[in-house]
Amino acid sequence: MKTGPDQTEAVLYLVYSGWSLKQVGELFGVSKQRIGQITRASGADFRWRSLRSPFDATAMRRDRIAGMTLSAIAQKHHCHFNTAWKWTRDIPRPPLKKNTHGTRPSYIRRGCRCEACRAANAATQRALQSKRRQHNLEGT
Ligand SMILES: [Zn+2]
Repeated sequence: MKTGPDQTEAVLYLVYSGWSLKQVGELFGVSKQRIGQITRASGADFRWRSLRSPFDATAMRRDRIAGMTLSAIAQKHHCHFNTAWKWTRDIPRPPLKKNTHGTRPSYIRRGCRCEACRAANAATQRALQSKRRQHNLEGT
């Protein structure tokens, strides 16, 4: 396929919107290897194309940089926690706010053992335990 600038742009657009190289190749009547060549030659970044939309990853990363927690990001973008982690793991996690006590993160991450932090950790543990117990009961 002789690709003019128009066709190259169309190929890049389709690949970027999540079409497989094979699908695009079939559309243009060339091999998937040729499509791979065109995308590589363009120098564009296609690492995120496996996501439903390339803009999700960008927005996700913006949220992460803004300091959102992974679970909040996962909820907002309707994806799994691990997906949120996968696309933002190179971004260092936001620092804990100073002098916050009575939260489980301060118990786990900062290692604080004051009354409030221990109570928060215990409460979370209790909740997890009862959840687990209920799960086991349902299982039998
Ligand atoms: Zn504390």
